Amino acid sequence: MPIIRQVAQLGHKILRLEAIPVKEITSVQSLIDDMLITISDSNGVGIAAPQVYESIQIFIIASYPSPRYPDAPKMEPTAIINPEILWFSDEQDKDWEGCLSIPGIRGFVPRYQSVRAKYLTRDGKIQEQTFSDFLARVFQHEYDHLNGISFLDRLETTKDIITEKEFYKLMVENV
Ligand code: ZN
Repeated sequence: MPIIRQVAQLGHKILRLEAIPVKEITSVQSLIDDMLITISDSNGVGIAAPQVYESIQIFIIASYPSPRYPDAPKMEPTAIINPEILWFSDEQDKDWEGCLSIPGIRGFVPRYQSVRAKYLTRDGKIQEQTFSDFLARVFQHEYDHLNGISFLDRLETTKDIITEKEFYKLMVENV
């Protein structure tokens, strides 16, 4: 039975480590199942293994419109293993991000508008895929977690940090 994992919070050392690549795909299947139910329990759109105290190169993207991200597109929860970014677009965008490891705040984070990536699926198949806009943002956010980087490290200025309460007010105003 999969279990809901505790999420490491900012300040815990595991969030600052370089995660190691997965060698045996069979050895991470139950971790992936745990991450899938942990992310659905917390209304997240992405979660990386270091956030559940496993310093290995796996993350999940599970994008759908939710109270945390009302404008998110729908994407089936997908496990991304040993990812490599092959290409970044010239264009960048700034938009709001949150993080399950950094509760209560949002940051206005610059990211590449599109990325092309190579990764292993949970069946061990090599996949190449281009992610754009919101999904590219989630991909880069989670990829950063595998390198010990949080969205705070990507901010241009600390003035781009707001509380979640103010973030929800902004969302209502933008409708
Ligand atoms: Zn995060």
